[in-house]
This record gives sequence, C-alpha cells and structure tokens, in this order.
Amino acid sequence: MLVDNHGREINYLRLAVTDRCNLRCFYCMPENGIKYVDRNDLLSFEEMYRIISVLSEQGISKIRITGGEPFVRKGIMEFLERVSKIKKIEEINITTNGTFTEDKISQLESIGVKSINLSLDSIDKQRFFDITRRDLFDQVMSTYHKLLASSMKVKINMVVMEGRNIDDIHPMLELTKNDDVSVRFIEEMPFNGTTGQGNTTHWPMKKILETIQEVHQIEKIVDAPFSTSSNYKIAGYKGSFGIIAAYTRTFCGSCNRIRITSQGTLKTCLYDNGVISLRDILRSGSTDIELTNQLKNTLQKRPKDGFEAEKNRNLNSPVSESMATIGG
Ligand code: SAM
Ligand code: SF4
Repeated sequence: MLVDNHGREINYLRLAVTDRCNLRCFYCMPENGIKYVDRNDLLSFEEMYRIISVLSEQGISKIRITGGEPFVRKGIMEFLERVSKIKKIEEINITTNGTFTEDKISQLESIGVKSINLSLDSIDKQRFFDITRRDLFDQVMSTYHKLLASSMKVKINMVVMEGRNIDDIHPMLELTKNDDVSVRFIEEMPFNGTTGQGNTTHWPMKKILETIQEVHQIEKIVDAPFSTSSNYKIAGYKGSFGIIAAYTRTFCGSCNRIRITSQGTLKTCLYDNGVISLRDILRSGSTDIELTNQLKNTLQKRPKDGFEAEKNRNLNSPVSESMATIGG
C-alpha cells in the first residue's frame, strides 16, 4: 500500500500519455510557439505499462488516461487493451476532448473503460471555437450523443471563465434534465503554458453555486469517496452536476492521487514542480524494487496541500506549464 507522510492512502494514478493536442484551448495552451516534448523524452507505452504494473502491486487500482489528447497518440488502443488485463487495475477512465473519440467508443466499451470525461466548455458553436481555437464543435457533440448511448458513464468537464462561457452555465445544466450525465464546473487554474495567470477575475466554487441557486433549487447528493467534486442535483432532473474547486483547493486533505506527466515526471500534487523522473529511473536500468522504493521515499515528502506545493515551487519557478503536459 502507498501511504504518504500525512497518512493519505494513494490508490489512483492519472497518466498523461502525450503532451500533443489538436485543440488549442486558451486556458491550457498558447496558440503558437508550443514546445512539444521531444519524442524520445516521452514515456514509451512499454515504459508506461511497466510503471502501471509496478504501481498496481503497491495498491494503485484506478487509472485515468489523459494528456494532451490521449487519442492523438498512435497505439493508444492497444495500450489500453493491455492495461485492462493488469489484474489489480480495477478501473480505467479517460479524459478526452472528444474530437477523435467517436469511432473508438465500441472498442472502449469492450476494453471495459468505466467512464469518459468529455471536455466541453460551451454548447454554443462560436464560443466553443473562441475557446478551443478549432472548429470542431459538431464533432464533439456527436461524440457526446454516442457516448450517452454507450455503457460508459459520461461526465462533462467545463472550465468556468469570466468573459468566455459564463452564459453557458445554465444551458449546460439543462443537459442534465434529460441526459444521464454529470456536468462538472471546474475553477480555472493557472496552467496555460505561459507565465500569465489566466483570468484575473476568478469564478470560485461559491460564485458558481450561487449563480446556479439564483435559478434552481438544488439538493446535495452523496459524493463518491475521495471525490474532488462537490455534487448536486436539480429536483426532477435525470443527471447531476458537480463543482471542482481546483483553484481554491478545498479537497487536498483527502487526496488519494498521483500524476505522471507524458515525460514520466511524478507529481505528488498538481501544484508541485514534479518531484522525480520515473523515466530516468527506468532508463538507468533500475529494478522494480528500486523504482518502488524511490516512489515510496518521495511520498514521504509530499506537501500537505496545493498551497504548500505552490509555495515550494515558486521558490524555483512560477507556474508556466501547460495542463497538456500534466493531464489535468
Ligand atoms: N485533452 C483532453 C481534454 O481536454 O479532455 C485531456 C487533457 S486536458 C489537460 C484535461 C482536463 O484539464 C480538461 O478537462 C481540461 O478542461 C482541464 N484543464 C486544462 N487546463 C486547465 C486549466 N488551466 N484550469 C482548469 N482545468 C484545465
Ligand atoms: Fe488540448 Fe485538452 Fe488542453 Fe484543450 S484542454 S488544449 S483539448 S489538452
């Protein structure tokens, strides 16, 4: 079992399988001048498989595949198939922008993928274009409808941003009226691939909730264990909604997750600088036991929350990473 220095048990891995993406969501990546990681510096699927196998022996049972856009990486479906056969991995989930996903849905179902988080920041075609800088709204909506008809659980991720998509909050909620979907409103974080801090007017959880309550009577529903979203329902609606306080960071006390970036850097907190390079450890010829020991040692220095992690990193460098290298 993996337990950190604050007694938190770690059973959840978020793995970014690539830093490449076909969209350019402005809160995640700059439009131009992106420095993608050199191909040789990305983890290979073989390396990712080995890391997951080792971690699964230490209690990691749940995985989220993310990126960049996971489905732009060649070989992803074969990789997912292999991972699904690792005995102790009980759950595979994927976060995707939905642009290359539709034709893979039936294969994902047969692999046993449990849920898909679809990123959709607007249900208005023009606003979608303004945010993602790509004209792929119709494709994403088509994926959404096909996902709803699948056996996989569907969640929508919407980053809430002043001056961009505030008018989408209510239409997005209306999706939950007839669709069995969970819409999650996410606070914007400063991981946009520049040293700029993104929007200066933040939409914290409280403000999002108040905006919803101006129109609807809502009821709290039970959150899944270790959930980062605080979840609610509108009476009579089929789906639900949640708010993820990713910037105000209210959930760190029960954090059960670690992240591995596309280049194999372990992050024990979203806001840390990356603590060790699992890629370098693997490429130096370490055994599985050595890899496990390094990981366990690192977890003994884990910051207690995202504020402590951010303070530590600011001594070295301000946040300037793109979320596409971290995976969200
Ligand atoms: N490309 C896939 C997608 O967009 O779903 C997976 C990777 S993306 C980095 C994972 C999630 O991070 C998405 O839901 C995205 O909206 C979210 N994200 C990216 N940048 C963010 C930011 N600056 N603040 C909050 N969420 C962000
Ligand atoms: Fe690509 Fe996802 Fe980042 Fe948008 S949020 S640019 S889809 S990695």
